[in-house]
Amino acid sequence: MTSNSISEVLEYLILKKMAGRPEVLKALLDYVDGNISPATASTVYGISKYQLRGFAQRIYDKAGNRSLASLLIKIAVPIILEKTKVYIDRSQKPEECLICNRKLYNVFPEDHIKKHHKDVISHEKQRIIVEIKKVLSKEFVKEEILREK
Ligand SMILES: [Zn+2]
Repeated sequence: MTSNSISEVLEYLILKKMAGRPEVLKALLDYVDGNISPATASTVYGISKYQLRGFAQRIYDKAGNRSLASLLIKIAVPIILEKTKVYIDRSQKPEECLICNRKLYNVFPEDHIKKHHKDVISHEKQRIIVEIKKVLSKEFVKEEILREK
């Protein structure tokens, strides 16, 4: 997994939260943790098993390695769920972008954000990477302490 593919996976996950679809991230996390099957995802999260498999497959493709992709989901998704804000108001039809207040006619929220708010995405990505590093260094320190005992 190259740093570029990590960046692509992170961007994909961050965009889902920015676009107001945290349930996709929760489903992915439960899926890689083995807590749900794609079939039960539809009852719990309202996402069809085909969609969930599709989301997971896109991440595996970007990562180029399934187990590393799963690891990245396990580490990054809880952080993104907690830290990344929602920028699309999905309670309205059409949805409204809360960054530029545009109504999203015939455009996927993710595509709108990618096209018009690249700066917000990259800022968000940097923030999440900082948080991931914090989590990883804490884990590392914990392991080091255990090893010393
Ligand atoms: Zn916008």
